[in-house]
Amino acid sequence: LIELDRAHLVHPVSSYRGHEQQGVRVLTSAKGATVVDSRGRQLVDGFAGLWCVNAGYGHESIVEAAARQMRDLPYATAYFGLGSEPAIRLAAELADRAPGDLNHIYFTLGGSDAVDSTVRFIRFYWHARGEPQRDQFISIEQGYHGSSTVGAGLTALPNFHAGFGIPFDWQHKIPSPYPYRNPVGEDGNAIIQASLAALRAKVDTIGANRVAAFYAEPIQGSGGVIVPPSGWMKAMRGLCKELDILFVADEVITGFGRTGPLFACTEDEIVPDFITAAKGLTSGYVPMGAVFMADHVYQVIADGAGTSAVGHGYTYSAHPVSAAVGLEVLKLYEGGLLENGLRAGKRLMAGLESLKDHPLVGDVRGRGMLAAIELVADKAAKTPLPAEAQPSRRIFDRAWENGLVIRAFANGVLGYAPPLCCTDADIDAIIERTAKTLDQTLE
Ligand code: PMP
Repeated sequence: LIELDRAHLVHPVSSYRGHEQQGVRVLTSAKGATVVDSRGRQLVDGFAGLWCVNAGYGHESIVEAAARQMRDLPYATAYFGLGSEPAIRLAAELADRAPGDLNHIYFTLGGSDAVDSTVRFIRFYWHARGEPQRDQFISIEQGYHGSSTVGAGLTALPNFHAGFGIPFDWQHKIPSPYPYRNPVGEDGNAIIQASLAALRAKVDTIGANRVAAFYAEPIQGSGGVIVPPSGWMKAMRGLCKELDILFVADEVITGFGRTGPLFACTEDEIVPDFITAAKGLTSGYVPMGAVFMADHVYQVIADGAGTSAVGHGYTYSAHPVSAAVGLEVLKLYEGGLLENGLRAGKRLMAGLESLKDHPLVGDVRGRGMLAAIELVADKAAKTPLPAEAQPSRRIFDRAWENGLVIRAFANGVLGYAPPLCCTDADIDAIIERTAKTLDQTLE
């Protein structure tokens, strides 16, 4: 398998960095929060795959739901006014639970195309409102919004831009509200004021009547699990309303129980104009993403459809098998998984906090089952680990040898997003194996 993988399977994020020398690691089975590799090693999956297997592995009821739908109707297009029962029912169930009036749902295959779809819907919206010059988009440093070409331009991680001529000139960024490393310090109110001022200044520079939308993650995931101060989302949402800029909450990671409820926006007490979701929507069993649109946005787009048609849609939009899985996963979340996630999340955060005195640990942060520790060379000065001491791959490898899957970001951040089904023993194993990995990193 290692040879075949090297010869034929492309892994852009890892293999271009030379990781193929070491060879692929192959997972063969999984149950609950435990994955098994081809050498028979059992590991606790502290990252739920790629922050997606929120329900955990091996749920027979999900398998049944998918198999039943494959037998009954494996495919139906959402083009030409056609549809399928599970897609319609899932849209209705989601609209019922989404914040405020986010009642209109467009299904995609994952997060990147959900983000791309918002860009198209938003352009269409401003055309229909007679303001087509509103074609400028603002997102945030350290933000991640996908690796399609448009999504990668909204993403602010430079390795997703290199060589592609992105971001486009209509894609702008403001600084991240990164409490641990914010130039204004760690005070929440000061950070909120700085972000508000940065957004105002950016809008002034671009031109108030040119800005179409602002994108924010409730917690910045791929940038290193950066948790903005409490009240930050609400303040930014309020300013966007004041400036008549559409607000997109990218909940691809935070949605579906990752931070506690089905939508992190609920905790943030906001109703955005759009939510993008994926990952936990189908818990990784099959691909699916979703765009949630507010009533007032949908009405403008629907009313404008006759005058300036914009074709948009994917072959696998609203896929019936994915929708059937989505419906079953939703039942599981509400049948106890969300609750278990909240309980396990408290244990996870307490466990990570208990590592705070470790000489390498500079910061511990998170919400629910989404957490990180940031490793530093000097705690007082918050000095990042020197480049040669923070080969994230080595920490990842060590953790793997210790029976733990975590995300080791290049900037010395270790990310945690375990399945919501974790038992106390799973969480304790995550903490113990992290502590062991950190001790070995010190040696
Ligand atoms: N938005 C956010 C916030 C994400 O975290 C991700 C994926 N990590 C995406 C969009 C893109 O999703 P996908 O990988 O499913 O295309």
